[in-house]
Amino acid sequence: MLTPSPARFRDPGYGKHHFAVSDRILVRCPKCERQAEVVTAVRDARDDSSGLDMPRRLVCHHCGLSRQRKKDDPIAFFRGGGQDMLDPYFHEPLWLQKNTRHGHLWAYNPEHLNLLRQYVQATLREHDPWYEPWRKMGLFGRLPAWIKQAKNRDEVLRGLDRMRTSLTA
Ligand SMILES: [Zn+2]
Repeated sequence: MLTPSPARFRDPGYGKHHFAVSDRILVRCPKCERQAEVVTAVRDARDDSSGLDMPRRLVCHHCGLSRQRKKDDPIAFFRGGGQDMLDPYFHEPLWLQKNTRHGHLWAYNPEHLNLLRQYVQATLREHDPWYEPWRKMGLFGRLPAWIKQAKNRDEVLRGLDRMRTSLTA
């Protein structure tokens, strides 16, 4: 039995909004500009909301800001591009983002960042053995081509590492 090489990456098959609906998204605090987070708020027992519908709060441990998202506040998925990437719920800039020569890198949270790093670092990318075409629409299938190009790998990794060093505990 061969030990799998650390340079291999197995696509977990996450959908494109997997990290957008996660319990914790790091954003830049609109009040003090330090690292804040959008978290799912505590629900009462009758509340069966899930995913996008979950109640969310923006909280900052630096300045004490706490905002609750109102139920009919619009949810929007931004595309990043050359501009600041925003969170879907409060539309504040993501904390984890970095411009590189080739394009804009961003991640919703440290888990997202780690997975991106593993993906970019992998020299061999394998698909799940039950690979299906719809996977192309998943998180990794949708990444822009420049992130996937071997010639950009070192620079993309440097960008991701700079994002990681910007994290506060
Ligand atoms: Zn703050």
